[in-house]
Amino acid sequence: MALPHEPEFQQAYNELVSALEDSTLFTEKPEYKKVIPVVSVPERIIQFRVAWENDNGDVEVNNGYRVQFNSALGPFKGGLRFHPSVNLSILKFLGFEQIFKNALTGLSMGGGKGGCDFNPKGRTDSEIRRFCVAFMRQLARYIGSDTDVPAGDIGVGSREVGYMFGAYKQMQNNWSGILTGKGLSWGGSLIRPEATGYGVVYFVEKMIEKATGGKESFKGKRVAISGSGNVAQYAALKVIELGSTVVSLSDSKGCIISQTGITPDQIKAIAAAKIHFKTLEEITKESASLFSGSNEVQYIAGVRPWTHCGQVDVALPSATQNEVSGEEAKALVEAGCKYVAEGSNMGSTKEAIDVFEANRSKAVWYAPGKAANCGGVAVSGLEMAQNSQRVTWAAEEVDEKLKNIMYTCFDNCYATAAKYSAEKDAENLPSLLKGANITGFIKVADAMFDQGEVF
Ligand code: NDP
Repeated sequence: MALPHEPEFQQAYNELVSALEDSTLFTEKPEYKKVIPVVSVPERIIQFRVAWENDNGDVEVNNGYRVQFNSALGPFKGGLRFHPSVNLSILKFLGFEQIFKNALTGLSMGGGKGGCDFNPKGRTDSEIRRFCVAFMRQLARYIGSDTDVPAGDIGVGSREVGYMFGAYKQMQNNWSGILTGKGLSWGGSLIRPEATGYGVVYFVEKMIEKATGGKESFKGKRVAISGSGNVAQYAALKVIELGSTVVSLSDSKGCIISQTGITPDQIKAIAAAKIHFKTLEEITKESASLFSGSNEVQYIAGVRPWTHCGQVDVALPSATQNEVSGEEAKALVEAGCKYVAEGSNMGSTKEAIDVFEANRSKAVWYAPGKAANCGGVAVSGLEMAQNSQRVTWAAEEVDEKLKNIMYTCFDNCYATAAKYSAEKDAENLPSLLKGANITGFIKVADAMFDQGEVF
């Protein structure tokens, strides 16, 4: 159970429990109720000091964490977040989500999450390297390829994974797949960088196909995306490839809107500049010729895109938690949005989810992050499989496996939602919120019964 000072974790817990309670699951199988108090307490939380040297030779200190939440299905697995907002409430919510998300991939992975309240913005490359080494000096003793395999998240990309992997290898004299998101020439998987963004889009492909009986696809749709990091970039590139118009992207300072569509060249320029922590405002100003003329974008400071993007068919929140409010959800529905799928974890507030779910009768369909964005960790799971076998699969092979995982995830959520829906719900599109939570929960709960964690 959550503690009063853990609002994000409480929110994630409430989402799961109310989705389960608002279905027929506990009526049909009351024994599953016993799992909730056990599964909602992490197996272990590790908290450590990260003291490191900045470029002035001064010591700086940060709080590092690893939440090893649940290992019923496999080694703990989940990303590391480096962001000043990191605290135990946020990491417990992310780790809790991760348990059920990983179950939805169909692969053998438990759930965990970690990170640090270190702010990488404005730091030099040397400072980031020294910080990563100091962080891994503490984390190394708690992870292992069959114990706990972290990956990236906000503020942790391939550069940070590289520094941490190198530090681990030197300290332990052991080359093994203890992190995913590694470089391609040293154990990384093709398609891992693309996987979360592509996976969200594959999931929504199935939503559109199912809702329209195969009559519609991404072709001709207008898609609002928030964020401009890893997930947002690849989601945007994939929907453009599938014939949609991307009308927005954003960052922590503001958003860009384009009625004619953000172009792949603009996305690539943003990706290159984001490594150097540039803001969208700076990027659009510094590359003015790329963002003007027939490809003009409008920059709006201090806002999220949802109430500024005009008519849209699809919304993909892909920045951070609670980035769609109830009012913004209403605005999206009024703007014609039919499909909402979270690239970010817990992208929607409870009020926003209530709005989307209440509009299922009007064919608005919402997919929570634990289902829609499971493609990233799925390909991390495939990276672990390749490391264990000492092989590298071709990009097409990984992409095909990713597609199958996302399609199967959708089918399972859809079928489970329909199976456990109360009668009053039957005439609407099945709730993917319930489908995702129930499907993930049953898989983890069954394993916990089998392993004697609940009885
Ligand atoms: P990145 O660090 O690459 O990008 C994060 C983006 O979100 C940036 O545009 C950043 O803006 C913006 N952002 C971060 N914090 C805030 C905030 N408080 N308010 C507004 N905007 C914010 O992260 P990812 O793309 O990897 O992750 C995005 C989301 O997707 C997260 O919720 C993450 O947990 C989730 N996710 C990521 C996966 C992955 O494989 N990477 C897998 C599954 C989920 P700025 O540039 O200004 O910092």
